[in-house]
Formats: sequence, C-alpha cells, structure tokens
Amino acid sequence: MAIHEDVVIGIDIGTTSTKAVVFDGRGKVLASHAVDYPIIQPHPGFAEQDPDELFAAVVQAVGAVTIRHGIRPAQVKAMGLSAAMHSIMVLDESGRPLTRLLIWADNRSVAQTERLWKEQNGLAIYRRTGTPIHPMSPLSKLLWLKEEQPDVFQQARRFVSVKDYVLHRLYGDYVADHSMASATGLFRLDTLDWDEEALALVGIRRDQLPRLVPATHIMTGMKREWAEKMGVAPDVPVVVGASDGVLANVGVGAVLPGEAAITIGTSGAVRTIAAKPTTDEKGRTFCYALTPGYWVVGGPTNNGGILLRWLRDEFGAHEREVAKKLGMDPYDLLTKYAERVPPGAEGLVFLPFLSGERAPYWNANARGTFFGLGLHHKREHFIRAVMEGVCFSILSVALAIRDVTGPMSEIRVSGGFAKSPFWRQMLSDMLGKPLIVPQTHEASALGAAAVALYALGELPSLETVKTWIDTTARHEPKEEHTLIYAELFDLYARLYERLKEEFDIIAAFQRRSG
Ligand code: ADP
Repeated sequence: MAIHEDVVIGIDIGTTSTKAVVFDGRGKVLASHAVDYPIIQPHPGFAEQDPDELFAAVVQAVGAVTIRHGIRPAQVKAMGLSAAMHSIMVLDESGRPLTRLLIWADNRSVAQTERLWKEQNGLAIYRRTGTPIHPMSPLSKLLWLKEEQPDVFQQARRFVSVKDYVLHRLYGDYVADHSMASATGLFRLDTLDWDEEALALVGIRRDQLPRLVPATHIMTGMKREWAEKMGVAPDVPVVVGASDGVLANVGVGAVLPGEAAITIGTSGAVRTIAAKPTTDEKGRTFCYALTPGYWVVGGPTNNGGILLRWLRDEFGAHEREVAKKLGMDPYDLLTKYAERVPPGAEGLVFLPFLSGERAPYWNANARGTFFGLGLHHKREHFIRAVMEGVCFSILSVALAIRDVTGPMSEIRVSGGFAKSPFWRQMLSDMLGKPLIVPQTHEASALGAAAVALYALGELPSLETVKTWIDTTARHEPKEEHTLIYAELFDLYARLYERLKEEFDIIAAFQRRSG
C-alpha cells in the first residue's frame, strides 16, 4: 500500500535481523521490513557476525520498505538508528575489517574478565563506566584480542561497534554515540568521554576510537550510492541515536525518572530511568547513557521465556499434541495447567539458572534447582514453579535496581511472556506493584524514531512518546499472593547463597562430562 504522508524511519540493527520501521509523526507504524542474518560460532563460546552482511541488511531493509510503499525521498523527514550493545571489531588503515563483529553473546573472554574482577580493580572500572565486568563487554573482548591475537591487535588502526561501522560506510566518518559508547566499558559516565585508565589497561589510544557525539547528533551528506539504494535523499537527516536497550525504554513509554520497563522474551531485562549516572557499589546493575539528563539503570537476566520454551520442548509433548488438536498455542495450554495450582506451587521453589545468570548475581556457574519436591507435586506444579522462577529472577534484579535508584514508580511490561495475562498477574503479585501493558511493536525502532524527531526539534521532549502509546491492560497486585511470594523469595535468595560452592562443583563436573 502506498504511503503519501511524511514519515520518519527507525532502523533497529538487532542480533537476528535489521528492521526498518516507517512511522508517522505520532509514532504510528505504517510499514516495516526486516532482513535476517546469522550468528557465526567458529568455536564454542564465540559469537560473531559479518559486519558487511549487517551493513547490507540496513541498506536492503530501508530500500525494500521505501520501494514497496512508494515512499519518495522528499517524504522521509529523518531516520534514526538503534543498535545492539557491546559489539566490537577491528579495522585496518583503509577502514577494512580485520575481524568480524564480536557480539554481546561472545563469551571467549572469561579468563580476562575474571582477572579484571580479581586483580585489575574491575569494580572501580565498572563504577566509572557503568558497564558490568563481563565477557559481553568490549573491554574484556579487547583484552582477549591483545593476548590471543597480538598480530591483529598490532595491525589495528581502529576499534568500532556495529553502528560506528555502518555510519562509516554511509558517511566516511568515524563517530560513536554516547549511548553505544557507554556499553563498551571504555567510556566515563561523568565526563562523557573515553576513560583514559581503561584505554591504558587495554593498551589502545583514543585516536583508535571514534569521535564521540550525543544521541541527537545529525549526519548529512550520505554517499550517493547508498542513498539511492535506500530510496532516500543524500541530505536526509540521519540521527545517530542510541543502543537498543535504552531506546526500548523510550519505545514503551518508560521515560521519566523512576519509570521502569520489564521485558521477558527469550531472556529478560529490567530497566529504569535515572536523571544522572548511577552505579551500584556491589556491581550488580548497568548504567547506560541516552541524553545528558536521561540514563538507563538496569540488569539483564539470562533466564526468561527460554525456560517455558525448554519445558514445552523437553517435557511438553503431551501439551503440544493436545494444543495441536485444539488449534491452540501450546504455551496457552501449559499456562492453563499452571493456573490450577496455588501461588507458591505448594512449596515447590525453582531457581531458574539453566544458562548461568547475569544480573544480579553475575555467576556463569549458577545452575537450575527444584527445591522442596514432594510426592504431592504433579506436572502442573512444575510448570507453575518454572513460571514463578522466572518472576523470582526478575524480582531479584528489580530489588538490586531499587537499592541503586530508589523505588520504581510505574512498570511497563513487554516481550513474549506478556501474551499471557496469567504470567503478567503473577509478576505483578511477585513485585507487589501495578503493571501496565503498553501497545507497542518494535519499541527500539520507535525509540530511535522519537530521538530523531526530538533531534530535529519536532518533539518538545522524549516524554511526548507517552502520548503515542495506548495501554492494553493493567494489573494490580493481590496482597495475599505478594505475601506468599515474599516468603518464598527469601528462601530463593538464601538457597542461591548456600548453593554457590555447589554450583561451581556441578558446573565443573558438567564441563568435564560435556
Ligand atoms: P525473543 O524475541 O527474545 O525471541 P519473544 O518475545 O518472542 O522472544 O518471547 C518468547 C518467549 O515468550 C517464549 O519462550 C515463551 O516463554 C513466552 N511466550 C510466548 N508466547 C506465550 C504465551 N502465549 N504464553 C506464555 N508465554 C509465552
């Protein structure tokens, strides 16, 4: 269908695809196009992507959406960029890649990360930079590169993220926005500048990193070849934008200090807004930049919806079969069974660390545990306990964030789990807080489009986004359930502390036998 009005395009460079989403001036989605690409795993624990494939996907996604909908260059008021955090790659003197992109999921730098924590004052680096000391961080990855591939490290003229690379191919200029930079472990939150101590630790110079610009920085003068392929004018304002994590908050309307967004897709995250950079004295939470008065404090968990998927795939053959006959989604059947069981699953507590845990424990050796099992427990208890375990892990992150930024005022939820009203109510009960379910699709792309309009002076503030987003549901916590969960959460947290050593032992055993 042809689009005749003026539009703004949000481009979200994600882990599995790049999406170009066309919005009107009030954030309504008019059209979108996604181009997929793979993650390359040359060795266990490595996770890489081909930077040129991602660049091609950006050009192709925008080109497809403008052509398909007859959008003329003059209609495109602006484009805004969002990209996945924590990627890093090496370029030579002529700007050609010497490595692929090492993405957030790459865990090769475990040894370097441990050393950072134990011997190199990792907590102080985290407190200056806001990026947790973890293999996901480009800081750890660069240390790996220096030690394991010294030739490449020596030849390196520049180190860039995926977004910096895309912008360089489009404009021939090396720029990094404060938000993406704040997820590298190399960027000081208080001065909005590269951190000299972190650079010295890795052994790189600031001229090997891109020039820093705010999220609202506008690029113009795109190389003609790419502008033509995208169906936009070379002088279309392209706003560099921010990372997908902080833009997702904008895109669901969690934009004022204290407002939070909880996403549970495959993994999960809790993010809240702070008016100034704020880090945790225990190193549990991240702090990433958006604009100078707007910071995102939060924590990611590995163990979100993937647990229900694991249950469905490994133990849910019966549900899958019944659901097929009834024309239902197997997840809806599983959650129906869970509803038969009271809160607390009659004393079955699940620690959901099937893939280790990031926030708040940052422990790759943590493992899943069912506790309290009795003969009275049936399969529906297991389903409920798993769903509750996911909510316990979200609660543990939310409590760490509360210690750092204070209580959350409003919580907005999204991701696959939000399809289940039962699971949403469970989370509301667990947190003891009301939850709002916003009607949003493509939250990061919407956030990128909003920042673009804000940069052009067409939005008075990012808060305006709130007026664009409808609420589809609201949940109030049931106090009697909150009390039950508080009692069991206490047990959950104690179990984690008591099992720490045993987690190390079983993880070592699994590595030996795997
Ligand atoms: P991602 O984008 O990270 O791949 P999604 O947002 O698609 O993830 O969410 C996937 C997860 O959401 C599933 O693994 C499942 O746990 C949960 N989910 C999806 N649909 C439902 C449903 N109808 N009921 C309960 N949970 C669901």
